[in-house]
Amino acid sequence: MPKKLSKYNQKRDFKKTSEPIGKSVKSKKKLHFCVQHHAARKDHYDLRLELNGVLISWAVPKGPSYNPKDKRLAVHVEDHPLSYRHFEGTIPKGEYGGGTVMLWDYGEWDPISKNPQISLKKGSLKFYLKGNRLRGAWTLIKYKENNWLLIKENDNITLYDDISYFNTSIKTGRTIEEIAHNFKAKKINEEIIIEGVKITNPNKVIFKNPKITKLDIVLYYQSIAPLMLPLIKNRLVSVIRAPSGVNGPKFFKKHLENTNSGLGKIKITNNKGNKEDYYYIKNIKGLISEVQMNSFEFHIWGSKVPNINKPDMLVFDLDPDKNLSLKKVREGVLDLKSILDELNLNSNLKTSGGKGYHIIVPIKNTSWSNFRTIAKNIAELMVTKWPQKYTSNMSKEKREGKIFIDWFRNTLGATSVAPYSLRLREKAPISMPISWDELNTIKPNEIRLTKKAKNKF
Ligand code: ATP
Ligand code: MN
Repeated sequence: MPKKLSKYNQKRDFKKTSEPIGKSVKSKKKLHFCVQHHAARKDHYDLRLELNGVLISWAVPKGPSYNPKDKRLAVHVEDHPLSYRHFEGTIPKGEYGGGTVMLWDYGEWDPISKNPQISLKKGSLKFYLKGNRLRGAWTLIKYKENNWLLIKENDNITLYDDISYFNTSIKTGRTIEEIAHNFKAKKINEEIIIEGVKITNPNKVIFKNPKITKLDIVLYYQSIAPLMLPLIKNRLVSVIRAPSGVNGPKFFKKHLENTNSGLGKIKITNNKGNKEDYYYIKNIKGLISEVQMNSFEFHIWGSKVPNINKPDMLVFDLDPDKNLSLKKVREGVLDLKSILDELNLNSNLKTSGGKGYHIIVPIKNTSWSNFRTIAKNIAELMVTKWPQKYTSNMSKEKREGKIFIDWFRNTLGATSVAPYSLRLREKAPISMPISWDELNTIKPNEIRLTKKAKNKF
């Protein structure tokens, strides 16, 4: 038994606990860290920093704080094996540390103190955490025997207000209760927030009812990014900014004002022959940086860079006359689908977050003029087949008692709301992709950003 982890091994009966047996290993260049939320006799968080092949560990009763004014008690405990940073599960009752362990955060860390070994001996270690939920500089200061203080440095890298924002595992998405009941791991969508995207005014209220803050919206886009990005990245975007929230002024922006490596810029000659700068989102960094700039609603083009002149995604928007029943709107969606099916065109459905549904048709990329003709012909086919029910004419008078099949979005420079985009409308609806089976059960503005919805993704 390696002497280094003897305390760790002595305390545990490995026939009873599923925690890993302590073996020290050689440290590589990169140093890992983890934080585990440990619901034991006393609920606490464990901070573990890799050094010399083991995890130096502190039990932090209140957990780390993002606020540099807080001094959190951190009790130095026995070193843990490096493999412990993956551990999540239950430790049987009666055993040492009996309770439930959730992997709350992990990542790499860098010592800021020159020689971390000596700094630890002296009782003062400065370090930089590069985790998902914890980022930035921290200090550990020893003040009495095993009692240390964990303090956030004032480095302005504070993404969140409070660790209680995160009550699920960073590894499996489960809550403490779900881990305790050994529920299956959930799909986990959290991605590392990229250094440099600092969220200012996280507590600014964007929607009053339900109360949704800017941080809530950041967390929503962060969690939905793995689903949203494949559908929107490299498509030119326009965004709607609402710096004072949904009830304040809104700005529709299609030019880049915010430069970073997550965003790309391209010059396009518009229909009038003028050159304009457009932009696109490349990755989660670009997406979150837009949200940081108060862009909460995203609209996208039907083509992608570098093939801006080869559109590949038709959008049909069903806009019902104001008094038309939802039943009729749903019927319209299915009528359009039947035509697309006949044409052997695949189609996807999403809610608009407003009054209607959008039908998305991926097509082989083609020219804009061809693209527009296809869209127009399909809309006119609907009108020919059911002239009482549909119109392909934009005018409001012609719409009376009918549904306007809006095909006009399928031209160079036109946009439609992006899948998974939040809408800056009352109650924070989302333009949400749904399955055809869900058409009859989900209203166009039914899926909304709530605290509950955020956990769902
Ligand atoms: P609903 O179901 O309520 O009709 P929708 O998304 O279909 O929702 P709108 O939000 O009214 O409809 O959008 C209409 C079109 O205009 C979309 O193609 C959108 O990209 C675009 N658009 C939205 N806001 C602006 C704006 N301020 N300036 C220019 N175009 C905009
Ligand atoms: Mn519409």
